Amino acid sequence: MPNVTIQDVFQAGVVGAGGAGFPTHVKLAGRADTLLINAAECEPLLHKDKEVLREYVDAVIEGMAVAMQLVGAGRGVVGIKEKYQDVVELLQSKLPEKMDVAPLRDAYPAGDEFVLVYDILKRVIPPGAIPLAVGAVVMNVETAMNVAVAAKQPVTEKFLSIAGAVAEPVTLRAPVGVTLRECVEAAGGPTVSDPNYVVGGVMMGYLEENHDALVDKTTGGVLVLPDDHVVVRRRRQDWPQIVRIGRSACDQCSFCTELCPRWLLGHPIEPHLAMRSLEFNLVGESNVIGTAFCCECNLCSLYSCPEDLDPKNVCTQNKRRLMQEKKRWENPPFNPRRPELHMENRKAPMRRLMQKLGLTQFRNVGPLNNTVLRAARVGIKLKQHIGAPCEPTVAVGDQVTKGQPVGQPPQANGQPALGAPVHASIDGTVAAIDDGIIWIQRR
Ligand code: SF4
Ligand code: SF4
Repeated sequence: MPNVTIQDVFQAGVVGAGGAGFPTHVKLAGRADTLLINAAECEPLLHKDKEVLREYVDAVIEGMAVAMQLVGAGRGVVGIKEKYQDVVELLQSKLPEKMDVAPLRDAYPAGDEFVLVYDILKRVIPPGAIPLAVGAVVMNVETAMNVAVAAKQPVTEKFLSIAGAVAEPVTLRAPVGVTLRECVEAAGGPTVSDPNYVVGGVMMGYLEENHDALVDKTTGGVLVLPDDHVVVRRRRQDWPQIVRIGRSACDQCSFCTELCPRWLLGHPIEPHLAMRSLEFNLVGESNVIGTAFCCECNLCSLYSCPEDLDPKNVCTQNKRRLMQEKKRWENPPFNPRRPELHMENRKAPMRRLMQKLGLTQFRNVGPLNNTVLRAARVGIKLKQHIGAPCEPTVAVGDQVTKGQPVGQPPQANGQPALGAPVHASIDGTVAAIDDGIIWIQRR
């Protein structure tokens, strides 16, 4: 096992690579009995975690061992879809004592931390809490790999799936700071004349209008879809449209609630009540405090609702307003028996979800291209994580080498604020520092 300390993990700038971007050194400072490696990857057409596991299984296992030691865990489990039989068998042949594999059903959501902890450990995380509350730490596959090498190699590269309407769907290995457009071109380019980029997955990701937006340490993938695709049309609905249609068409069937993964876990979120509240409050918004516990999985809007309404956006709009107003539900009610009664038979099968979202026309593959994408210029964002943006530690005109720190979290009370350093991902010259981005031109 490599000798890696929590300080190494901080200095290497390791953050959650699965999308959340939580600084990993903070997570590893907790105490837990079990470490879960999240390889569930339930966003349709995204494949990078499975590909990374297949190619770098030894490094992921080393990262698991380091993380288990740091948090004091006696058990490590990799949660991965059972359909990836070859990777499951590879893991079974490699995992040492105290580590095992948990094959998961091909359903959505499976990678949500709360769902993963329940599926593997049968422990229910209370509403508003984190996995540590039930003795677990959850870590993405790529994050574990970054932890394994943290003592000698900072995070300068990202694996990401490029899929949908592209010539050759692929899992790319790209320098942090390359543009989304360059990644799509590396997958053979779009096969449609009106490409739209959905970043991070059709369920929980977002429509990125700027095709030159930058890859950061959390970018999991880009799906290219044409203008008339249902996912693009749904993403383009504006708030007044969502409210107007929701008010007039919701028949309170409550399917959105009965399939909501957080409600199934016993949490007090009931999206049909949020929809109902659109009808009777004076501000034209939802007003139900349980929306604070929505995980934004989008299942209610993109799968459950027979009317194609948007309870997810109604819940999240209300959740953000409650946060702004600093309204919290202290000691929310909680039914930890509900998952054992309903969870198993109410998951959304991936095949049905793909059909409903019009994704079955795309090739569901993503072989790894292990050659690092070459970029002439990269833009290193000073904020690629939860917490405070970094402050630049270089100036325009400086020569930098790949792996050199170029930004550090600010100090707060003599300690670094929540965050993680950022590093140059190519050798080059700092060409500009502008709008929270350090631009590096290759030498
Ligand atoms: S599933 Fe759709 S129609 Fe039914 S209650 Fe929820 S939002 Fe309303
Ligand atoms: S997005 Fe919908 S289904 Fe998902 S947690 Fe929120 S309310 Fe529940």
